[in-house]
Amino acid sequence: MRKESSMAAPQASTITRTPVAYFSMEIAIEPEMNTYSGGLGVLAGDTLRAAADLSIPLVAVTLAHRRGYFRQLLSPEGVQTEVEQPWPTDAFTEMEPARATVEIEGRAVHVRALRHDIHGVTGHIVPVYLLDTDLEENDLRDRTLTDRLYGGDPDYRLRQEAVLGLGGARILLALGLEPSVYHMNEGHAALLTVALVGRALAGRTLAQAGNAEFGRVREQCVFTTHTPVPAGHDRFGMEQACRILGHDTVGMLERAGGCHEGLLNMTYVALRFSRFVNGVAMQHGIVSQQMFPGYHIDAITNGVHAATWASEPFLAVFDRHVPRWRRDNVTLRYAIDIPESEIIEAHRAAKQLLLDAVVDGCGEQLSLDVFTIGFARRAATYKRMDLLFTDSARLVAMAKKFGGLQVVYAGKAHPADEPGKAKIKRVIELAHQLSDGLLRIVYLENYEWKLGGLLTAGVDLWLNTPKRPYEASGTSGMKAALNGVPSLSILDGWWIEGWIEGVTGWAIEDRDEEGAEADSLYTQLEDVILPLFHTQPELWRRVMRSAIALNGSFFNTQRMVEQYTLNAYFPQAAETEYIAAESGVLA
Ligand SMILES: *Cc1c(COP(=O)(O)O)cnc(C)c1O
Repeated sequence: MRKESSMAAPQASTITRTPVAYFSMEIAIEPEMNTYSGGLGVLAGDTLRAAADLSIPLVAVTLAHRRGYFRQLLSPEGVQTEVEQPWPTDAFTEMEPARATVEIEGRAVHVRALRHDIHGVTGHIVPVYLLDTDLEENDLRDRTLTDRLYGGDPDYRLRQEAVLGLGGARILLALGLEPSVYHMNEGHAALLTVALVGRALAGRTLAQAGNAEFGRVREQCVFTTHTPVPAGHDRFGMEQACRILGHDTVGMLERAGGCHEGLLNMTYVALRFSRFVNGVAMQHGIVSQQMFPGYHIDAITNGVHAATWASEPFLAVFDRHVPRWRRDNVTLRYAIDIPESEIIEAHRAAKQLLLDAVVDGCGEQLSLDVFTIGFARRAATYKRMDLLFTDSARLVAMAKKFGGLQVVYAGKAHPADEPGKAKIKRVIELAHQLSDGLLRIVYLENYEWKLGGLLTAGVDLWLNTPKRPYEASGTSGMKAALNGVPSLSILDGWWIEGWIEGVTGWAIEDRDEEGAEADSLYTQLEDVILPLFHTQPELWRRVMRSAIALNGSFFNTQRMVEQYTLNAYFPQAAETEYIAAESGVLA
């Protein structure tokens, strides 16, 4: 494969064919760029890093989010407050001269793109275009449209989606790029289909669009749905949609089947216009198929970018023992031959890095020798971050019985998510009440990329307690596995696939009632996990090593992007085009 793809440095006047355009409302591009909120953005970033490593011809589109998501502050009582998080766009992006316009509420909104290049291991570049409306020629109301990720009211959200979908599709053309595949990572980008219908109409009006045009767009689009939680699917009132997008656009989307229960539904828009649709783990594919019986829903299980999420100590171990692993993640399978002593040493080093961060974060000095549980994710209620405290007396007794127990928490609640904020407050209150010499519980402020890396690599056990079947995939447990940290988890999302009892981690039994699930959690800890850790360290090390060899080698975005390439981007006939594009024939 060539080092540089045919899309590098396109001239505005020439159309360069780029096979895949990847659209995502959030992308975790660099730790210092506050352009993501959580799992969806981290997955998008990991996808692009893997695509760059694999030399896949791909460009990405997102919004600039100049003021970020938010920085979380926690009061001693556990009350979350949020502060803005502007990031230095000049330090991380190049401004592109290209312009596009989108009509929003009858006004022309001008859009430009800031470009950031992601470099793969072999030098291949995946450019990310971050759309920006902060232009002098725009109305003041529109200049802030690309400021805040998931901020503002539903009107703000719909306007942002218009910028992402319509503005994104148009700016690629203005940049001289003509993708043959559009990948909508979640429904936020579904309005890109409106731009494609417009193109298929070749000068005729949206009112004239019908099945011929819808079919043509369908050949170009791929859609990944990411959550079975109903609130995770964007819906807008018809009056609101008509006011912001215009009657012609909404009328066309309604004719195409993009409305559901009287609302403009971005998931239905994306379903209706995609030739390939997938959920993000096998189980999630099944659940999504039940939610949308009229459509065929496939599954491609998520992953993490291995070189991003392996901690420094493990990077060194892998480089020593599995030299090709960065270019070929599947070779991590041979981690099964790494001496256990090196795994233990790397893990202790990673744990020390976490404990240092805990001191910096909250002043608590935890012990390197005490068994440490980690729990960090968005504080959405279905994730049940307080399940561990269902019977706190039992937890206290366990800490006593095994000579100590440490728990490290982190996680943000969306600013409007009051129940999520209440969960955080409850966990922090319980941490104060229950912490004594033997049981130590800390809650770290402002969970994001770097802290996520320290936590998933530095604890001894990764805990995951979502309510079934709401965890579409989950990826933090994959980061842990890559660092030799086994999971104790509800059998949902990716864990159904990654779980081998006692080999890669442990399952919390499936029960109908929350108390019974908590009981299973305690029983696993008390009867299986803590005794193994304390009395059979050689077996514990084997579990750590199996987590890397069996799960690290599979649950990575390199395998995932290969599956997207084979099944979604370039199935059969299109494959020849892909090869032609890669060799530069189509450039
Ligand atoms: C990996 C990651 C997530 C996703 O975690 P889940 O297990 O999928 O909930 C969220 N936030 C950050 C900062 C992460 O690094």
